[in-house]
Amino acid sequence: MSTAVVVGSGPNGLAAAVLLAREGVDVTVLEAADTIGGGTRTSELTPGLLHDHCSATHPMAAGSPLLRELDLERHGLRWRLPEIDCVHPLDTGEAGVLHRSPEKTAHGLGPVDGPRWQRLFGPLTDRFDDLADGILGPLARVPRHPLVLARFGIPALLPAAAVAGLWRGDAARALFGGVAAHVFRPLEKPATAAIGLSIIAAGHRHGWAVAEGGSRAITDALAALLTELGGRIETGVHVRTAAQLPPADAVLFDTAPRAVADILGDRLPPRVARAYRRYRHGPAAYKADFAVEGGVPWTNEEARRAGTVHLGGTFEEIAAAERDVHAGRLPERPFVLVGQQYLADPGRSRGDVHPVWTYAHVPHGYDGDASEAIVRQIERFAPGFRDRIVGRAQRSPAGFEAYNPNYVGGDIVGGANTLLSLVGRPRLTPDPYSTGVPGMYLCSAATPPGAGAHGMCGAFAARSALRRLRGGA
Ligand SMILES: Cc1cc2nc3c(=O)[nH]c(=O)nc-3n(C[C@H](O)[C@H](O)[C@H](O)COP(=O)(O)OP(=O)(O)OC[C@H]3O[C@@H](n4cnc5c(N)ncnc54)[C@H](O)[C@@H]3O)c2cc1C
Repeated sequence: MSTAVVVGSGPNGLAAAVLLAREGVDVTVLEAADTIGGGTRTSELTPGLLHDHCSATHPMAAGSPLLRELDLERHGLRWRLPEIDCVHPLDTGEAGVLHRSPEKTAHGLGPVDGPRWQRLFGPLTDRFDDLADGILGPLARVPRHPLVLARFGIPALLPAAAVAGLWRGDAARALFGGVAAHVFRPLEKPATAAIGLSIIAAGHRHGWAVAEGGSRAITDALAALLTELGGRIETGVHVRTAAQLPPADAVLFDTAPRAVADILGDRLPPRVARAYRRYRHGPAAYKADFAVEGGVPWTNEEARRAGTVHLGGTFEEIAAAERDVHAGRLPERPFVLVGQQYLADPGRSRGDVHPVWTYAHVPHGYDGDASEAIVRQIERFAPGFRDRIVGRAQRSPAGFEAYNPNYVGGDIVGGANTLLSLVGRPRLTPDPYSTGVPGMYLCSAATPPGAGAHGMCGAFAARSALRRLRGGA
């Protein structure tokens, strides 16, 4: 029987472990922390309320070909949808409102911008499941649906600012800009439209789903399936040297590239070691979780019914804030994401006190306190919010890295989303999962298709490992 060790139990590590175990490989997962799950953990950060530590909203995970195929419902994963997926309020009182239905979204954007939204997202939504096959993996493959991929690829290669130019009104432009800003990169740079287009199309197809009971349900379900398939997970084992690795036919690292360089040392081919040590991480997140009595008093009524609220004002304002963050400055009004997962999953609340998840985009390694900037940004669109806060917890970029070594400098998306990283993440090579050491692979969000709790990086890394275990390349 072949054996494999997976270092790290994030969604990618566990996805890889499940696929290997399903093929009869004897798998052991080693996790540094005392609990599994990496970026999908959930716990009572404030008394009696369930807060997601990291990932919160899952259009890409709900649309992940892998997670859908694994039938994780059998192991307790239940997706819940908010009434409205996302609202982007503006100072004027109007808002961009993202509904699951592209038609309904378009309708709300008016007679000029609405049809343009529909023309862009209608076809991408209809063919999203074929599109997912192309975009949720390495790009250097022969696509199964080249025409769908081309329809997506042409706008995806543009700067988000160019795609925002499709719309005239501030509401549509800001709605797109807020989602595009998930790329953590100045919105004038090439290919910064790709992530926004993918998330919006995925959401129109599958909804901005949250996991019942918290995001931890995603990795709890993967872990339960792994155990059923005979795999094991050991927590509290931080792998720092190759000597700690038990003998195995395959080793997969759900870690940052630099960690692999540290662990494998001289065993890595020098060109790979160089690429892993030079691997670039992007800006950071500063997170603040709140316990809020009566919920957030948004001025915009639809924001009170939305799972996610994006705060940053107009497209131009968000673009300027992202430029500042990229240049190492905290903007006065940073882009802030607010999650109200409890609206779709009321079991996370305690009576009328609700968990509100937020984070701001801040510079890489930012060492100040951005929590007040977050509160001010929420107050701007929800006066009186501050008075409703009855509990809070916060995590800085350094706190993120201490919590999970993959979040280097507070970068929560596994590496800077440059044009080069779109085609060659973590380095330019036909097999981005290979470390160059036979039988050793990288399977974290630093590999294609990048960040998210979709498990697809792990799935492709497991396929590479299985090819070799079966005597292939
Ligand atoms: C604040 C925040 C908000 C986010 N929001 C969303 C969202 O809404 N939707 C979404 O889809 N994604 C979101 N993400 C991103 C998502 O959480 C990650 O992309 C995803 O978790 C990456 O999965 P992974 O398996 O690659 O790595 P991780 O989830 O980071 O897991 C890696 C695991 O490996 C362990 N590990 C690392 N090094 C070692 C070692 N040397 N030895 C042993 N164990 C080790 C870590 O402890 C960790 O448990 C968010 C992340 C953050 C932090």
